Amino acid sequence: MTKSATLSDSTNGAGPAANRGKEPGLMQRLAAGPVICAEGYVFELERRGYLQAGAFVPVVLAEHPEVVEQLHMDFVRAGSDVTQALTYYVHREKLRVIGREKELVPMNRAALKIAKRVARRTNTLFAGDICNTNIYDPADSKALREVERIFAEQVGWAADAGVDYIVAETFSWGGEALLALEAIKKYSKVPAVVTFSVHREEQMREGWSPVETCQRLEAAGADVVGLNCHRGPATMMPILKKIRRAVQCVVGALPVPYRTTRQQPSFMSLTDRCCDNARAFPTGLDPFVCTRSEMGDFGREAFELGVRYLGICCGAGPHHIRALAEALGRHPEASKYSADMSKHAFFGTDKKIRPVQTEYRAKL
Ligand SMILES: [Zn+2]
Repeated sequence: MTKSATLSDSTNGAGPAANRGKEPGLMQRLAAGPVICAEGYVFELERRGYLQAGAFVPVVLAEHPEVVEQLHMDFVRAGSDVTQALTYYVHREKLRVIGREKELVPMNRAALKIAKRVARRTNTLFAGDICNTNIYDPADSKALREVERIFAEQVGWAADAGVDYIVAETFSWGGEALLALEAIKKYSKVPAVVTFSVHREEQMREGWSPVETCQRLEAAGADVVGLNCHRGPATMMPILKKIRRAVQCVVGALPVPYRTTRQQPSFMSLTDRCCDNARAFPTGLDPFVCTRSEMGDFGREAFELGVRYLGICCGAGPHHIRALAEALGRHPEASKYSADMSKHAFFGTDKKIRPVQTEYRAKL
């Protein structure tokens, strides 16, 4: 019950949801222009104190679902065209690690229900999500069966919920990304967005290049292929250029909003004095955070390159998404409060700002 569930919703709802079914889906929206997808929920909820850095499992779904709903609303208000269910790391293996496997089904259902409610309320696309399992091992057939089971059940729950499409993300193994795509094709009828992560070395763990991985995913039927997480704009962009030239399908890019460098190209490799010159990941990354205008620049550059599925991953806040949306010529609801320094107490140019303040500017 994938598309039929979506369509039947359209006959029951009120307000914007009543038009559901006539709304364009992911592929129609992509044909008309870029689609913005906010991600990075887990990092943002960790900063707010609703889940633990380390395991990064969104237990907030069970403990404070209202916080998840508000964060979805904040990202939509900032310009996201998508409400993506927070099922990242709500899979069997991760819940096993934190000893909460029994909550697998209710937490997945809760994430999907919350995201669906927000998507229908805001006329955004409703996306399902599956991700890296952390047990994939091409040499271990038992582990591979478990990976397939994890993907099958999460895709099934997403399809039951009536998602418009499914995101498969943050894979370090190309083979795992292919298994995820296979599951989306087998257990749902919706489009598949498959993005993976490039660590320090510009290759997947089995040695495939990012270009080869995208070509394999495209050949296997992915609707959107590309990169997400781990690399910041500066070190993701050169790889995106190669990918855009090498595939025909839509390309996606969702970097982390951190100033990664040629020497330290991934956010896990960044080191800083604040952390005794050791890894800043995950809780010492603040000195590396990109400004909102840097994320806007990234969005503009990626769009000019031909990337059409755009977003920001771990570390993103609504202000980053708003800057990305504005760089693409959008004016989301939150743009009502985009900076206007004309009324600043010292830097303002407004006639109501007194000279006693503006004359002091140089001494600030
Ligand atoms: Zn991420």
